[in-house]
Amino acid sequence: MKKIILSIIAGCATFAGASEIELKFYPYELKLNHAFNLATMSRTVTPGVQVELRLDSLTGYGEASMPPYLGESVESVMSFLERVDPARLSDPFQFEAIHQYLDSLAPGNRAAKAAVDIALHDLTGKMMGRPWYQIYGLDPALAPCTSYTISNDSPEVLARKMAEAEPYRIWKVKMGVPGDRELIETIRRHTSRPLCVDANQGWKTREEALENILWLAERNVMFVEQPMAKTDLEGHRWLKERSPLPIIADEAVQTSADVQALADAYDGINIKLMKSGGLHDAYKMAIMARLLGLKVMVGCMTETSCAVTAAAQLAPLADWVDLDGNLLIANDPFDGLRIVDGKVILPPLPGIGITVK
Ligand code: MG
Repeated sequence: MKKIILSIIAGCATFAGASEIELKFYPYELKLNHAFNLATMSRTVTPGVQVELRLDSLTGYGEASMPPYLGESVESVMSFLERVDPARLSDPFQFEAIHQYLDSLAPGNRAAKAAVDIALHDLTGKMMGRPWYQIYGLDPALAPCTSYTISNDSPEVLARKMAEAEPYRIWKVKMGVPGDRELIETIRRHTSRPLCVDANQGWKTREEALENILWLAERNVMFVEQPMAKTDLEGHRWLKERSPLPIIADEAVQTSADVQALADAYDGINIKLMKSGGLHDAYKMAIMARLLGLKVMVGCMTETSCAVTAAAQLAPLADWVDLDGNLLIANDPFDGLRIVDGKVILPPLPGIGITVK
């Protein structure tokens, strides 16, 4: 007994700083398979920053992705990470203290913080020899099917996109852009599979939102994400009372601090690591949502298998997942989660479950 206790203490001493932790980070631009068309913009590449945390023989990988609407950039992420003192990460299990430290460097910067958080989770999972879904006590068999996003395009490109989307059981359609109803009609002529809709704040009034939702409810749509402006809490409360479909907050919810205030205005929340600052807060968000009777959706940005597979560790807690970000890019440096017959398959690997290609 004495021997075991001594070895645990020795182990703690190691975590507390005997070994040096090394933090590395570099920009990595993601190339998209198709131009990505949202209500507000269109793009063909998207910026990212990769992070590596090394301790002894183990490396934890992390990633920041920066969709323009969140206001971070390669420059802001790199300059935040330059300020991080690796010595403050020397006990990588101290998630609370480390996040307090990161928050003390600067508010916001959640993608940059998520990159560090994901790398910490990958590293600590590897130190424990367990995947994070197992550390959370979750059954990977409960991970739902992922949705797969189809954005509007010319009829030829759209036909190709639908052919590529065939393996996915749920398709996600971006609305709030010109021609959005035509897109739904085109898809409905092609397939009767369930759809989910993301309006990305594109509907300008409650009446317009409700009219669209009533129309969508007749077309086998499961739920609608962020119908109106993220600031319009009262409008979403009005909509929730009348909508036959669940209304999911995405842009309106960033961290666990936001969840309670929108519980009566939405039916669920879309949790993303780049909004929450990583898995540590994302897990709290999922638990809070459950306690408040809200549906849980786990989503991602356009990012590599690193951040997507990290988010997928929470998939067994989710009602719906939208974990197709890595499928949209052509130069993924990692292997991670797989989608088999539409369903998310979590790799039984320690940490966040990725390997370098
Ligand atoms: Mg969304």
